[in-house]
Amino acid sequence: MKVSTCSPRPVMLPSRIDSTGYQIDPYVGCEHYCYYCYALKDAETQWDKEIAIHADIEGQLRKELENLPPQRFYMGYFTDPYQPVEERMLQTRKVLEILLEHGSSVGFLTKSNLFLRDLDLLSQMDDAQASISVAFLDDSVRTALEHRTVPTSERIDALRAVKENGVHTSSLLCPIIPEINDVFALLDMLAPVAETIWLYRLSIEDPEGVNWRNLRDILARDFPDKLELIESAVLSREHPYWEELRQEVTALGDKQGLNLQIHI
Ligand code: SF4
Repeated sequence: MKVSTCSPRPVMLPSRIDSTGYQIDPYVGCEHYCYYCYALKDAETQWDKEIAIHADIEGQLRKELENLPPQRFYMGYFTDPYQPVEERMLQTRKVLEILLEHGSSVGFLTKSNLFLRDLDLLSQMDDAQASISVAFLDDSVRTALEHRTVPTSERIDALRAVKENGVHTSSLLCPIIPEINDVFALLDMLAPVAETIWLYRLSIEDPEGVNWRNLRDILARDFPDKLELIESAVLSREHPYWEELRQEVTALGDKQGLNLQIHI
């Protein structure tokens, strides 16, 4: 993986997540390269070959934090903070060290288990929150749709480990694709380790856009008999498949007392 330097830009941006004021993306690009990623249409590099970093993330972040009160920042909106290149480039770890010095905290979303490495920092922060994104238990489906992610069970194991050490946890079950994910098996695995579970369906806004073109090719190749149902459902929230799933998931959540945020 080639690592280049991105053009000058802020490290912190106003957050698109309601519960935080600012978001930080330590990388530009994401080598997980999920075909359904909403950031893919704005990719500045070919994500399976090149990822960019800030020229001096530590110096720049320290300056940007001057005059800001301690608070919780969000990581994981445009890129995964724990994508494989983090193992050697340590951009996310540097951000966590600076946020800790500042008296701040972090909430992040990842498809990796690498965050377990940073438990020493997370456990010193007030209110840190680790969140994993999961969707596919079948590894052949996972690797077809999310190139370089780690297996789902490894993400869940890492979440369990940080929870046992006092870090808040949550999970995003997304994208739900009709007859592809095993939603109920995933909920069973997540229930003991995630304080909150968000569920989102695969929603395609632009049938001609890069996400659906990529996904459609893979689904047509691997699930030709399911493509018609999938296509009609992902293009319409009103499709009966979603209403049925909403009812089943709601009933399970009520029965088991789960904290589910259902956006199917
Ligand atoms: S891990 Fe997240 S940011 Fe990275 S490619 Fe996948 S959806 Fe996009």
